[in-house]
Amino acid sequence: HAKNNKMDTMVYQSLLDEHSLERLSLFNELNEAITTGTLELYYQPQVVTHGEGIPSLEALIRWPHPVKGMVFPDRFIPMAEDSGLIIPMTWWVLESAMEQCAAWHRAGLPVTVAVNFSAHCLQEDDIVQRIADCIKRHNLPDHSLVLEITESMIMADPHQASTVLLEIDKLKVDVSIDDFGTGHSSLAYLKHLLVDELKIDRSFVMGMHEHKNDEVIVRTVISMAHNMGLRVVAEGVETRRDWDALTAMNCDRIQGYFISRPLPVEQITRWLEAFVR
Ligand code: C2E
Ligand code: CA
Ligand code: CA
Ligand code: CA
Repeated sequence: HAKNNKMDTMVYQSLLDEHSLERLSLFNELNEAITTGTLELYYQPQVVTHGEGIPSLEALIRWPHPVKGMVFPDRFIPMAEDSGLIIPMTWWVLESAMEQCAAWHRAGLPVTVAVNFSAHCLQEDDIVQRIADCIKRHNLPDHSLVLEITESMIMADPHQASTVLLEIDKLKVDVSIDDFGTGHSSLAYLKHLLVDELKIDRSFVMGMHEHKNDEVIVRTVISMAHNMGLRVVAEGVETRRDWDALTAMNCDRIQGYFISRPLPVEQITRWLEAFVR
């Protein structure tokens, strides 16, 4: 029996090693992809439901991997968060999204771009200065950038978060609370925070027609946001039926496969040109 235990431990140990080796190689490869700029941003539109405003675009990271093919963020963001690679990665995303945003503006497509901003970056000392420099370097008009941050990120240190959000507001950069409703919610803090937008998590939108409670949550979040002077984006909108329901509820912006999947730059540019024409 003792011998079996030892065997188990050995097997377990080697599995563990294999696992950490895999993580180590993922780490090294991602690190290299960040340094060499081989990551890619796809963009997904958020269209306004009422009126004629030009769509905003959310930047979503992709990793074209020589062996694994296109790697989606769910496969490497958690490791990036744990290892700290998320910080240089986020700065790469911001720089690259703002450069592209400026190119769209020069081409007569004055879009707003939303970037997913990790909790770890909010804790960096120089974040406000770096964001300011980035916007200035690309000569972008006010409110061209939206930072999407999650609730859990704010709740980790509400006091620090509110200080940073105050500074970000002064830069005329908008802040959106991403995946709203899924974190340990912060309704009490929300009223003190300088945010501009709530983004209703797609789990509520996708459950809206089957579960009365999801529908109630969506409706309530929209009306609460409006009462607080915030705009609302719904994500995960896949059908005409979702669109109709959300439009009837006065949701401001819609994002999802019903409008468009996330697309690489060239394709989303053609999509935008067709949209404004
Ligand atoms: P998220 O911020 O909630 O982004 C929305 C995700 O929903 C995207 O997945 C998008 O492709 C997907 N989606 C959009 N419309 C629909 C729809 O109608 N139906 C369904 N089923 N899905 C839809 P994606 O691109 O795989 O990104 C997954 C997550 O990875 C993002 O969730 C975000 O948390 C994270 N992520 C992506 N890019 C970045 C980045 O540049 N930085 C950081 N820190 N995180 C990122
Ligand atoms: Ca997001
Ligand atoms: Ca603001
Ligand atoms: Ca989400």
